[in-house]
Amino acid sequence: MNEFEVVPLRAFSDNYIWTIRDAECAAVVDPGDARPVLDYLRRENLRLAAILNTHHHADHVGGNSALLRHHRVPVFGPHDPRIAEVTNRLAEGGRMRLPHFGLEFEVMEIPGHTRTHIAFYGAEMLFCGDTLFAAGCGRLFEGTPQQMHDSLTKLTRLPDATRVYCGHEYTLSNIRFAKAADPNNQALRELEARARKLRNKDLPTLPSTIAQEKATNPFLRCAERDVIATASKYAGQPLVDPVSVLAALREWKNNF
Ligand code: ZN
Ligand code: FE
Repeated sequence: MNEFEVVPLRAFSDNYIWTIRDAECAAVVDPGDARPVLDYLRRENLRLAAILNTHHHADHVGGNSALLRHHRVPVFGPHDPRIAEVTNRLAEGGRMRLPHFGLEFEVMEIPGHTRTHIAFYGAEMLFCGDTLFAAGCGRLFEGTPQQMHDSLTKLTRLPDATRVYCGHEYTLSNIRFAKAADPNNQALRELEARARKLRNKDLPTLPSTIAQEKATNPFLRCAERDVIATASKYAGQPLVDPVSVLAALREWKNNF
């Protein structure tokens, strides 16, 4: 296998286009905008090898067609006609080999933010779009709390060391909410200190890890006593099952 690194390209106000690269090629995850990708390829003298899409939202796929005008590459994505450019449609348990890099990814269906959202998992990396964020989760645009809970639970079964590459830099605002939802969580306070230092230097707080998310993310901690208590308080009634806790947290965060 070639040596590779993963580089964040910024797009819009807070999107990351995660770019897997070596000395010759690059593959991009969720290129919402082609411009930063084309600039990077030119500056680094790289060829595009592939595009990966996690879900159909414009800030994740908007750059597909402009990139394809310059580069003939496969586009890996979900079974969703709303992403017209996808050439290789993938479903739960499917495997894909990243051209040029020889990296193998397993595909996970993780509905919740959108109905057809997928994640790519391989080489101890998870590209999870807008489903799981550092200390938060995506809004439920098309899915139910049950689906989001199942999707997040599936992700927590990945190895602790898995690096988690999320679609947005939302960490500090997620932590602000997470502290309200999980007020006695010491790991969250430590994360906040680290994240503040990074953001003060304008550096990404990502990737996270599965271990970090299990320790700090209230949406993965819906069975913890403190989180149940604060969610119940918000809901105005005792919540007993994790899905109701997640639903209450999500609604609370929408209004936070
Ligand atoms: Zn989205
Ligand atoms: Fe997004």
